[in-house]
Amino acid sequence: MSLDAPVTELAGVGEALALKLARLRIVQIADLLFHLPLRYQDRTRITPIGTLRAGTEAVVEGEVSAAEVIRGRRRSLLVRLKDGSGILSLRFFHFSPAQQQQFVKGVQVRCFGEARAGSTGLEIYHPEYRLVQSEAPPVDEHLTPIYPATEGLAQPRLRALIQQALKRLAEAPDALPEWIPATLRQRFRLPGLLEALRYLHEPPPDAPQEVLAAGRHPAQRRLALEELLAHQLSLRQVRLRIQTDGAPKLAGSGHLQARFLIQLPFSLTQAQRRVLDEIGRDLEREVPMLRLVQGDVGSGKTVVAAMAVLAAVAGGCQAAVMAPTEILAEQHFRQFRTWLEPLGIEVGWLAGKLKGKARGDTKAAIADGRAQVVVGTHALFQDDVSFQRLGLAVIDEQHRFGVHQRLALRQKGENGGLTPHQLIMTATPIPRTLAMSAYADLDLSVIDELPPGRTPVHTVAVPDERRPEVIERIRSACAEGRQAYWVCTLIEESEALTCQAAEVTRDTLTEALPALQIGLVHGRMKAAEKGEVMDAFKCGELDLLVATTVIEVGVDVPNASLMIIENPERLGLSQLHQLRGRVGRGRVDSYCVLLYHPPLSHHSRERLGILRDTTDGFKVAEKDLELRGPGEVLGTRQTGLAQMKIADLERDRDLLDTVTALATALLEEAPDVAPALIQRWLGDEAGRYGQV
Ligand code: ADP
Ligand code: MG
Repeated sequence: MSLDAPVTELAGVGEALALKLARLRIVQIADLLFHLPLRYQDRTRITPIGTLRAGTEAVVEGEVSAAEVIRGRRRSLLVRLKDGSGILSLRFFHFSPAQQQQFVKGVQVRCFGEARAGSTGLEIYHPEYRLVQSEAPPVDEHLTPIYPATEGLAQPRLRALIQQALKRLAEAPDALPEWIPATLRQRFRLPGLLEALRYLHEPPPDAPQEVLAAGRHPAQRRLALEELLAHQLSLRQVRLRIQTDGAPKLAGSGHLQARFLIQLPFSLTQAQRRVLDEIGRDLEREVPMLRLVQGDVGSGKTVVAAMAVLAAVAGGCQAAVMAPTEILAEQHFRQFRTWLEPLGIEVGWLAGKLKGKARGDTKAAIADGRAQVVVGTHALFQDDVSFQRLGLAVIDEQHRFGVHQRLALRQKGENGGLTPHQLIMTATPIPRTLAMSAYADLDLSVIDELPPGRTPVHTVAVPDERRPEVIERIRSACAEGRQAYWVCTLIEESEALTCQAAEVTRDTLTEALPALQIGLVHGRMKAAEKGEVMDAFKCGELDLLVATTVIEVGVDVPNASLMIIENPERLGLSQLHQLRGRVGRGRVDSYCVLLYHPPLSHHSRERLGILRDTTDGFKVAEKDLELRGPGEVLGTRQTGLAQMKIADLERDRDLLDTVTALATALLEEAPDVAPALIQRWLGDEAGRYGQV
């Protein structure tokens, strides 16, 4: 029987137990082998009572010298045990008469538990114990694993099941193949898979427990590495699958681009030019581009996108520009129209809320190619939208767009038999090694320079009892002709409550600042309403904009120089940094006030401190990673990275370079084993990628 068999094939596993195991993500017998201990107990030797210390777990053996029921605050059975080196008490708060009678003076007892300082000296509460008859039982040969367990499934049961799986593995070692070839294992100095698994389930008595607890043992790292490798291989497979298709060759578009650049009121930064070169080289190839452009808020990604769009149009193709929210899509739409219509290019608009005839017209224009550029939300890539000849898809704010969608895009270009180039843009500044793992299917370009003349945003944290001062500050900024944002953060994951709170804030601010024009945008308003408010703010009719975090991404109003963020402690660091990036876009000094609600936890204080002291998005992201872990920062749902069984992107970050090198070597020397590795670690997940 193979290890892929369901756990129900094991002796004593019925449906009920299988359900409990499934809660631990154990479905096949092999899953038991990869269910690794959280920690270990040492039952491999008997500790003399005299050397026992409080706070440690140990096996002790001794002779009962007394046993009595104590009637204190809580009734308990107290058993005194001596072994020649010292005396210890065992204390039972729950005990049966039969139990009480076992502990006869002179009887030999072996027990295990954690020693603590009690009223009679060292005590063990409710130890595991057995009476030792004439012949002493042997101690364990291995450290005792403690596994992640679940309700109704305790350690002994779990241990026995894992032992069954290990036994099966011993009988048929080939059932769990070592997919990484021997040559690569040698080159990268990797222990064997079976060896590593066996070690972790049954460590020898002298195993370094601290190293194991930290997850840094070579056996653990061997498994983590294999898991990371499988994830990376699966992403690279996605890439290969997309790149087996042809893409339109988009070369020689210099003319349109030159006309566009001339009409811009600024010249491109060095970093923008470098990234555009990288994109240009991709577009000239007949293989779909898969490129992630990373650039801090305000680094000028939109212009870069526009240049790529022009390359597509010049090459006789359509380009689609997608943003994650309607408000941002709308802003892009206006921007692209302003830029491109003077060049004689027709720009279309498509969002979920566009209905009826307007929708039909847009779809027709997309289908017959009249709309050369289309800007919109996810609605752009729905099934009922078909392009005449889509050559480029630009996706803004990458982390909400996952691998599956990336694959689905293949079908969108197929009218011309071609797959569109993909340009993905994000302001989440992910450290490079991490990006290479999380987005191994993408090439990476970084805009690492802000346009000249930007002033760093001064950030201060202020408790909300000083609200009147903050309001005063808004009054004086607006009196000088500046504009301000007031951002209301999410309340308990409820959009409705948040929008309500924003309305209340707007009302109280309107009362406090009667001379100012105050507008409101939140997620529950109609797109047209939102658009009007944003326009009014953009052209200076409004002084103050009260908003929910819908303005997180992309909104661009250079005259706004003050931002108040209420309850910043509710947001992640990177998100706060993005929000703050809405100011500091003009020539005057800009300020961000973090208006928190005291008392702040130590953790929140630390986070706000980082934001106050750092304006560099990469440094903020590094800290965010340290504090929150990669799953949260990258957006767990799409990357699937948080669901790793053994590896931990944060802890195992130093493995990532090796993972990349190993993946490359493996694809060169033994590409055939990649699917098996992916199947082992990603299972059905990988299957889903395959179907698209
Ligand atoms: P982001 O990277 O956050 O999307 P945007 O593309 O919205 O940034 O650009 C932010 C602002 O900077 C916009 O007003 C844009 O017109 C301006 N900008 C972009 N590139 C330059 C440049 N090279 N020099 C000056 N201003 C620029
Ligand atoms: Mg942007």
